[in-house]
Amino acid sequence: MIHKCITAAFVIFVMVLIPHVSANDSGALWLVNRNNRLSSDYKPAGITEYKGIQLHGTAHKAFVQMLKIMEQDGIYGLRLQSAYRSYNYQQAIFNQRVKELQAQGYSKPEAEMKAVKSIQLPGASEHQLGLALDVSVDGKLTQAFGETPAGKWLEAHSHKYGFVIRYPYSKTEITQIVYEPWHLRYVGTPHATIMKNLDLTLEEYWAYMRQIQMYIFWGEDGEYYLISYSDAPPIVLPTEMLCVSSIGANKNEYIITTRKTYPNAW
Ligand SMILES: [Zn+2]
Repeated sequence: MIHKCITAAFVIFVMVLIPHVSANDSGALWLVNRNNRLSSDYKPAGITEYKGIQLHGTAHKAFVQMLKIMEQDGIYGLRLQSAYRSYNYQQAIFNQRVKELQAQGYSKPEAEMKAVKSIQLPGASEHQLGLALDVSVDGKLTQAFGETPAGKWLEAHSHKYGFVIRYPYSKTEITQIVYEPWHLRYVGTPHATIMKNLDLTLEEYWAYMRQIQMYIFWGEDGEYYLISYSDAPPIVLPTEMLCVSSIGANKNEYIITTRKTYPNAW
Protein backbone atom coordinates (compact mmCIF):
# COMPACT_ATOMS: atom_id res chain seq x y z
CA MET A 1 0.00 0.00 0.00
CA ILE A 2 2.72 2.44 0.97
CA HIS A 3 4.57 1.43 -2.13
CA LYS A 4 1.49 2.19 -4.29
CA CYS A 5 1.04 5.58 -2.63
CA ILE A 6 4.63 6.50 -3.23
CA THR A 7 4.32 5.43 -6.88
CA ALA A 8 1.11 7.47 -7.35
CA ALA A 9 2.68 10.49 -5.68
CA PHE A 10 5.71 10.17 -7.89
CA VAL A 11 3.56 10.01 -11.06
CA ILE A 12 1.60 13.13 -9.99
CA PHE A 13 4.86 14.88 -9.11
CA VAL A 14 6.33 14.08 -12.54
CA MET A 15 3.12 15.18 -14.34
CA VAL A 16 3.20 18.53 -12.56
CA LEU A 17 6.93 18.93 -12.98
CA ILE A 18 7.13 18.17 -16.70
CA PRO A 19 5.33 20.82 -18.72
CA HIS A 20 3.25 19.18 -21.37
CA VAL A 21 0.82 20.17 -24.05
CA SER A 22 -1.55 18.12 -26.12
CA ALA A 23 -0.19 17.09 -29.47
CA ASN A 24 -2.16 18.95 -32.09
CA ASP A 25 -1.20 17.84 -35.55
CA SER A 26 -0.44 20.97 -37.56
CA GLY A 27 -0.64 19.01 -40.82
CA ALA A 28 2.21 21.13 -42.23
CA LEU A 29 4.31 18.09 -43.16
CA TRP A 30 1.58 15.74 -44.35
CA LEU A 31 2.86 13.77 -47.27
CA VAL A 32 0.20 13.56 -49.95
CA ASN A 33 0.92 11.84 -53.23
CA ARG A 34 -0.38 8.92 -55.25
CA ASN A 35 0.86 6.46 -52.60
CA ASN A 36 -0.48 8.52 -49.69
CA ARG A 37 -3.98 9.58 -50.65
CA LEU A 38 -6.48 11.59 -48.64
CA SER A 39 -10.00 10.30 -48.13
CA SER A 40 -12.80 11.79 -50.19
CA ASP A 41 -14.32 13.47 -47.12
CA TYR A 42 -11.10 15.07 -45.85
CA LYS A 43 -11.39 18.84 -45.60
CA PRO A 44 -8.91 20.78 -43.47
CA ALA A 45 -10.06 23.05 -40.68
CA GLY A 46 -9.07 26.71 -40.86
CA ILE A 47 -9.73 27.42 -44.53
CA THR A 48 -9.73 31.16 -45.32
CA GLU A 49 -9.99 33.19 -48.52
CA TYR A 50 -7.50 35.33 -50.41
CA LYS A 51 -9.01 37.30 -53.30
CA GLY A 52 -11.80 34.77 -53.66
CA ILE A 53 -9.48 31.74 -53.51
CA GLN A 54 -9.78 29.31 -50.61
CA LEU A 55 -6.61 28.25 -48.78
CA HIS A 56 -5.39 27.16 -45.36
CA GLY A 57 -5.13 30.07 -42.91
CA THR A 58 -1.49 29.28 -42.08
CA ALA A 59 -0.46 29.26 -45.74
CA HIS A 60 -2.54 32.39 -46.32
CA LYS A 61 -0.68 34.32 -43.62
CA ALA A 62 2.73 33.18 -44.88
CA PHE A 63 1.82 33.99 -48.49
CA VAL A 64 0.74 37.56 -47.67
CA GLN A 65 3.92 38.10 -45.65
CA MET A 66 6.05 36.74 -48.51
CA LEU A 67 4.26 38.86 -51.11
CA LYS A 68 5.00 42.00 -49.11
CA ILE A 69 8.75 41.26 -49.03
CA MET A 70 8.72 40.25 -52.70
CA GLU A 71 7.25 43.64 -53.60
CA GLN A 72 9.80 45.39 -51.41
CA ASP A 73 12.39 43.61 -53.58
CA GLY A 74 10.74 45.14 -56.65
CA ILE A 75 8.92 42.06 -57.92
CA TYR A 76 5.26 42.71 -58.57
CA GLY A 77 2.29 40.93 -60.05
CA LEU A 78 2.43 37.51 -58.42
CA ARG A 79 -1.09 36.08 -58.53
CA LEU A 80 -2.61 33.22 -56.62
CA GLN A 81 -4.33 31.05 -59.23
CA SER A 82 -5.51 28.08 -57.19
CA ALA A 83 -5.08 26.68 -53.70
CA TYR A 84 -7.60 24.52 -51.78
CA ARG A 85 -9.35 22.01 -54.01
CA SER A 86 -11.85 19.45 -52.77
CA TYR A 87 -11.61 15.76 -53.65
CA ASN A 88 -14.60 16.08 -55.98
CA TYR A 89 -13.13 19.09 -57.76
CA GLN A 90 -9.85 17.24 -58.26
CA GLN A 91 -11.83 14.31 -59.67
CA ALA A 92 -13.55 16.68 -62.11
CA ILE A 93 -10.33 18.29 -63.39
CA PHE A 94 -8.66 14.89 -63.73
CA ASN A 95 -11.61 13.56 -65.75
CA GLN A 96 -11.56 16.68 -67.90
CA ARG A 97 -7.87 16.19 -68.73
CA VAL A 98 -8.48 12.53 -69.62
CA LYS A 99 -11.29 13.61 -71.96
CA GLU A 100 -9.05 16.18 -73.65
CA LEU A 101 -6.35 13.56 -74.22
CA GLN A 102 -8.90 11.08 -75.55
CA ALA A 103 -10.03 13.78 -78.01
CA GLN A 104 -6.39 13.95 -79.17
CA GLY A 105 -6.53 10.25 -80.07
CA TYR A 106 -5.26 8.51 -76.90
CA SER A 107 -7.13 5.47 -75.62
CA LYS A 108 -8.68 5.83 -72.14
CA PRO A 109 -5.90 3.88 -70.30
CA GLU A 110 -3.24 5.82 -72.26
CA ALA A 111 -4.96 9.12 -71.48
CA GLU A 112 -5.14 8.26 -67.76
CA MET A 113 -1.45 7.26 -67.68
CA LYS A 114 -0.52 10.57 -69.30
CA ALA A 115 -2.92 12.71 -67.24
CA VAL A 116 -1.54 11.43 -63.93
CA LYS A 117 1.87 12.97 -64.72
CA SER A 118 0.51 16.50 -64.62
CA ILE A 119 -2.76 16.23 -62.68
CA GLN A 120 -2.94 14.27 -59.47
CA LEU A 121 -5.57 11.62 -58.94
CA PRO A 122 -8.33 12.63 -56.52
CA GLY A 123 -7.04 12.24 -52.97
CA ALA A 124 -3.44 12.40 -54.20
CA SER A 125 -3.35 16.18 -54.55
CA GLU A 126 -1.90 18.30 -51.78
CA HIS A 127 -4.29 21.03 -52.93
CA GLN A 128 -6.85 19.13 -50.83
CA LEU A 129 -4.80 20.20 -47.77
CA GLY A 130 -5.20 23.88 -48.63
CA LEU A 131 -1.41 24.16 -48.20
CA ALA A 132 -0.49 24.03 -51.91
CA LEU A 133 -0.55 27.27 -53.88
CA ASP A 134 -0.38 27.61 -57.66
CA VAL A 135 0.98 31.03 -58.58
CA SER A 136 1.63 32.91 -61.81
CA VAL A 137 2.32 36.33 -63.24
CA ASP A 138 0.18 36.02 -66.38
CA GLY A 139 -2.58 33.62 -65.41
CA LYS A 140 -0.77 30.68 -67.01
CA LEU A 141 0.79 27.73 -65.22
CA THR A 142 3.73 26.93 -67.46
CA GLN A 143 7.31 25.82 -66.87
CA ALA A 144 8.44 29.18 -68.31
CA PHE A 145 7.30 30.72 -65.01
CA GLY A 146 10.50 29.36 -63.45
CA GLU A 147 12.54 31.74 -65.65
CA THR A 148 10.55 34.87 -64.77
CA PRO A 149 11.83 37.26 -62.06
CA ALA A 150 8.99 36.09 -59.82
CA GLY A 151 9.80 32.41 -60.42
CA LYS A 152 13.48 33.01 -59.69
CA TRP A 153 12.70 35.03 -56.56
CA LEU A 154 10.47 32.23 -55.23
CA GLU A 155 13.17 29.65 -55.94
CA ALA A 156 15.66 31.74 -53.95
CA HIS A 157 13.53 33.09 -51.10
CA SER A 158 10.19 31.30 -50.61
CA HIS A 159 11.72 28.88 -48.07
CA LYS A 160 12.14 31.75 -45.59
CA TYR A 161 8.33 31.96 -45.40
CA GLY A 162 7.85 28.19 -45.09
CA PHE A 163 7.28 27.33 -48.76
CA VAL A 164 9.03 24.82 -51.00
CA ILE A 165 8.94 24.37 -54.77
CA ARG A 166 7.32 20.98 -54.36
CA TYR A 167 8.02 19.49 -57.80
CA PRO A 168 11.54 20.53 -58.82
CA TYR A 169 13.07 19.90 -62.23
CA SER A 170 15.69 17.48 -60.91
CA LYS A 171 13.33 15.37 -58.76
CA THR A 172 10.61 14.18 -61.13
CA GLU A 173 11.66 10.54 -60.57
CA ILE A 174 10.91 10.91 -56.86
CA THR A 175 7.83 13.10 -56.97
CA GLN A 176 6.39 11.33 -60.05
CA ILE A 177 5.24 14.80 -61.11
CA VAL A 178 6.60 16.98 -63.89
CA TYR A 179 8.56 20.15 -63.06
CA GLU A 180 6.05 22.67 -61.66
CA PRO A 181 7.81 25.92 -60.73
CA TRP A 182 4.39 27.45 -59.99
CA HIS A 183 3.34 24.95 -57.32
CA LEU A 184 4.36 26.05 -53.82
CA ARG A 185 3.73 23.89 -50.79
CA TYR A 186 3.64 25.30 -47.28
CA VAL A 187 5.63 23.07 -44.91
CA GLY A 188 6.54 25.77 -42.39
CA THR A 189 9.82 26.98 -41.01
CA PRO A 190 12.50 25.82 -40.51
CA HIS A 191 11.53 22.71 -42.52
CA ALA A 192 11.41 24.57 -45.83
CA THR A 193 14.95 25.90 -45.26
CA ILE A 194 16.29 22.48 -44.28
CA MET A 195 14.70 20.89 -47.34
CA LYS A 196 16.21 23.59 -49.55
CA ASN A 197 19.67 23.40 -47.93
CA LEU A 198 19.77 19.60 -48.18
CA ASP A 199 18.01 19.50 -51.58
CA LEU A 200 15.25 17.21 -50.35
CA THR A 201 11.68 16.83 -51.53
CA LEU A 202 9.01 16.14 -48.90
CA GLU A 203 9.21 12.42 -49.73
CA GLU A 204 12.98 12.55 -49.12
CA TYR A 205 12.68 14.70 -45.99
CA TRP A 206 10.50 12.08 -44.26
CA ALA A 207 12.89 9.31 -45.35
CA TYR A 208 15.85 11.35 -44.05
CA MET A 209 14.23 12.05 -40.67
CA ARG A 210 13.20 8.41 -40.34
CA GLN A 211 16.86 7.54 -40.78
CA ILE A 212 18.62 10.15 -38.64
CA GLN A 213 15.83 10.62 -36.00
CA MET A 214 17.03 14.04 -34.90
CA TYR A 215 18.28 17.12 -36.69
CA ILE A 216 19.50 20.40 -35.22
CA PHE A 217 18.92 23.52 -37.26
CA TRP A 218 20.88 26.56 -36.22
CA GLY A 219 18.74 29.62 -36.64
CA GLU A 220 19.40 33.30 -36.20
CA ASP A 221 18.93 35.56 -33.20
CA GLY A 222 20.10 33.05 -30.61
CA GLU A 223 17.70 30.32 -31.65
CA TYR A 224 18.09 26.73 -32.61
CA TYR A 225 15.58 24.09 -33.51
CA LEU A 226 15.44 20.46 -32.52
CA ILE A 227 13.63 18.48 -35.17
CA SER A 228 12.89 14.99 -33.98
CA TYR A 229 11.22 11.98 -35.50
CA SER A 230 8.89 9.66 -33.61
CA ASP A 231 6.94 6.61 -34.66
CA ALA A 232 4.56 6.91 -31.73
CA PRO A 233 2.13 9.73 -31.07
CA PRO A 234 3.83 12.25 -28.78
CA ILE A 235 2.02 12.66 -25.46
CA VAL A 236 4.40 14.74 -23.38
CA LEU A 237 5.97 17.57 -25.26
CA PRO A 238 8.30 20.35 -24.18
CA THR A 239 6.75 23.79 -23.78
CA GLU A 240 9.14 25.19 -26.40
CA MET A 241 7.40 22.99 -28.95
CA LEU A 242 6.76 24.85 -32.16
CA CYS A 243 4.74 22.23 -33.92
CA VAL A 244 4.12 18.55 -34.40
CA SER A 245 3.07 17.12 -37.72
CA SER A 246 2.32 13.55 -38.62
CA ILE A 247 3.01 12.14 -42.07
CA GLY A 248 -0.74 11.94 -42.70
CA ALA A 249 -4.14 11.02 -41.36
CA ASN A 250 -4.13 8.01 -39.03
CA LYS A 251 -0.43 7.35 -39.60
CA ASN A 252 1.98 6.96 -36.70
CA GLU A 253 4.98 8.91 -37.90
CA TYR A 254 5.66 12.35 -36.49
CA ILE A 255 8.11 15.20 -36.80
CA ILE A 256 8.26 17.33 -33.66
CA THR A 257 9.80 20.78 -33.89
CA THR A 258 11.12 22.48 -30.79
CA ARG A 259 12.59 25.95 -30.69
CA LYS A 260 15.19 26.79 -28.09
CA THR A 261 17.56 29.65 -27.43
CA TYR A 262 21.33 29.36 -27.10
CA PRO A 263 21.73 30.18 -23.39
CA ASN A 264 19.62 27.11 -22.53
CA ALA A 265 21.27 25.03 -25.18
CA TRP A 266 23.66 22.91 -23.21
ZN1 LIG B 1 -0.57 22.86 -57.86
